[in-house]
Amino acid sequence: MSYVDSHCHIDRYDDPAAVMRRAEAANVVTVAVTELPSAFQRLSVRLGRRRLFRLALGMHPLRVATAGPMELALFAQLLDRVDYVGEVGLDRSRDGRPSFPQQVKVFEGLLQHARLKDKILTVHSRGAEKETIQCLAAAEVTAILHWYSGSLTHIDTAVEAGLWFSVNSAMLRSKNGQRIIRSIPRERIVTETDGPYVKVGGQASEPRDIPRIVNDLANIWNEDPEYARDRVLDTMRNIAEAARSADSPSP
Ligand code: MN
Repeated sequence: MSYVDSHCHIDRYDDPAAVMRRAEAANVVTVAVTELPSAFQRLSVRLGRRRLFRLALGMHPLRVATAGPMELALFAQLLDRVDYVGEVGLDRSRDGRPSFPQQVKVFEGLLQHARLKDKILTVHSRGAEKETIQCLAAAEVTAILHWYSGSLTHIDTAVEAGLWFSVNSAMLRSKNGQRIIRSIPRERIVTETDGPYVKVGGQASEPRDIPRIVNDLANIWNEDPEYARDRVLDTMRNIAEAARSADSPSP
């Protein structure tokens, strides 16, 4: 493995096959998140067995209101098939506010699955950073806060709770995003594209852009690109290790 895209919506591109070919050519291990369990099923058929892709089972907070009980049942059924869970989380932006109480109920329900303990979660928290971090800390799961955009004060709480962060080009290009990245300990950061939702120069960000994201991260850190690449890979291994050892009782 050379690079990591820990949060990419492969099924939302116009031409997913082309995006996947370019990801493979760039040697990027990609976590393909989904927004509903039924979307996971469809993508899993489409992906087949691909060495560099990890399929994540998701229930996006903004899909909760219309998802229905079948999707929740499917989530529980499919959980045994995955190492990654996402996109899940909470959203209290203007879009998410009306369904927020329902989102909390569903998210807390998902976090109660005992089988979640050895998974890696990639988590949405827009406008509800404090609540999301509280839920994850209480559930003691291995989770990556994707595109964190909340207040700096919650970052320490998240770090103390053992949570991780993934950063993308939108964050690396904004002043606020850069401030957030500087406030997170280096050994807690991995890379993501959140493509195709994140755009770079009008183009949908995609896994093959990760080397450039690593370069931008290296600039913020005042380090060489090789340092940043190795740091992120080490962190991704640590996250996997944290998930693997989560089953054993804490000392
Ligand atoms: Mn996303």
